[in-house]
Amino acid sequence: MEKEECIFCEIANGKIKVEKIYENEDFFAFYDANPIGEGHTLIIPKKHFDSLMDLDKDISLGYIPVIREVADILMKKYNAAGFNILLNNGKVAGQIIGHVHFHLLPRKKGNNNKGFLFF
Ligand code: 5GP
Ligand code: ZN
Repeated sequence: MEKEECIFCEIANGKIKVEKIYENEDFFAFYDANPIGEGHTLIIPKKHFDSLMDLDKDISLGYIPVIREVADILMKKYNAAGFNILLNNGKVAGQIIGHVHFHLLPRKKGNNNKGFLFF
């Protein structure tokens, strides 16, 4: 369910308008407001969960296929040949927004080509 004063809940339920990359019954993907690279996208469950560890089983199982679909869309859109995914899980890991979200960054030749940890 929606959590009060959660900005990603408001994005998921359409109260805050953003450019949609992908949507299905349970998930929503949209551009990061402060992109670290071209096409930097966030993928969230519409229902509020604080972190990966709180996901229910169905959402958990649905997440990877959605990440793949979004990756496919973004790689075509940006003519990318690969992508990074990242999840900051918990405040101590740098999670700022307390609504679980995967970051997805499409990558192409000539755009640094180092892994996320060496970015
Ligand atoms: P994290 O919680 O994984 O550290 O990162 C949160 C991410 O959400 C950041 O990359 C930040 O730029 C992005 N972000 C924060 N607030 C908003 C917002 O209102 N809209 C969008 N599109 N992105 C946001
Ligand atoms: Zn939320």
